[in-house]
Amino acid sequence: AAKARGTGRVSIASDKLIASANSQMLLEGQLREAIMNDQLVLHYQPVVGPDGAVLSAEALVRWPHPERGLLYPGDFLPVAEQGDLLGELDRWVLRAAFTEAAEWPQLCGAILGGGVGIAVNLSGLVPGDPEFVDVVSASVAATGIAWDRVVLELVETSLIDLPSRSREAMAELVERGVRFAVDDFGTGYSSLARLKELPAQIIKIDRRFVSGVATDASDFAVARALVDMARAMGRSCVAEGVENATQFHVLRGVGVDAYQGWLLSKPLPAKEFREILKLGPVHIPRGT
Ligand code: C2E
Ligand code: MG
Ligand code: MG
Ligand code: MG
Repeated sequence: AAKARGTGRVSIASDKLIASANSQMLLEGQLREAIMNDQLVLHYQPVVGPDGAVLSAEALVRWPHPERGLLYPGDFLPVAEQGDLLGELDRWVLRAAFTEAAEWPQLCGAILGGGVGIAVNLSGLVPGDPEFVDVVSASVAATGIAWDRVVLELVETSLIDLPSRSREAMAELVERGVRFAVDDFGTGYSSLARLKELPAQIIKIDRRFVSGVATDASDFAVARALVDMARAMGRSCVAEGVENATQFHVLRGVGVDAYQGWLLSKPLPAKEFREILKLGPVHIPRGT
């Protein structure tokens, strides 16, 4: 733009652009290093049953940045995507989450920790990748986690119209005991009717519907229809973003299988999540 104006000077606007492009490149390099040097951390958010029993944990990645403080996925996933680092990130998370979860049975007793699932979000590594089955299998083998504790979360858009190769890769893992979850269900393009085509055992109802379930008649209707359909198709339902007791009790009333959200627990550092496991069922406040 500066050139077009013919001043030969760099305008303030393009200075800013250059600065942000530079800081983007800087962040990208730093993120690559952080992944390679094991400097990311995982927080674990409990997923509980209707009675508060901890059924699984979702691993959520954070980046303790030396200058910028603790960064959340919203801050750096776009950087990872831009830098083509999502696949590397996913591989790191798989390994780190399974390593942590593999210790729960020893620390918390086989009954408490042994059956607790570990859910990992995948966005760079997808079932269509030729190495998908091998990468997941190698993480399982290296950490010794039981196959039936593994949950892989994928967003709806990466699960529709899958080529048969992807479906076969998923089926191979399911055969060994892995479960797949559709994350943020309801935010993608597919309608309720397409639920049947989604190759996933678990449906995660997006926070957007959960937030209105006690106050908005149509959100309630969507949630109820979703749960009914999921059940008819042999899938289980997890509600995301449950923030208050009213939402929890309304959802329990329609038969949601599992619950995740700040009402029950925020995502916790590994050490604090272990304490939660030792305490047993999470306390559920009464409805209002
Ligand atoms: P998600 O998989 O849908 O994860 C749930 C998000 O909702 C998390 O945000 C969690 O902290 C937040 N959350 C949990 N309970 C509540 C609640 O009651 N209220 C509200 N308002 N929010 C709640 P987070 O950790 O910032 O992660 C955001 C997204 O980034 C995730 O959405 C997921 O898509 C992605 N992500 C997180 N960790 C990873 C990872 O390790 N790998 C990949 N590929 N993506 C990740
Ligand atoms: Mg998720
Ligand atoms: Mg989600
Ligand atoms: Mg989400």
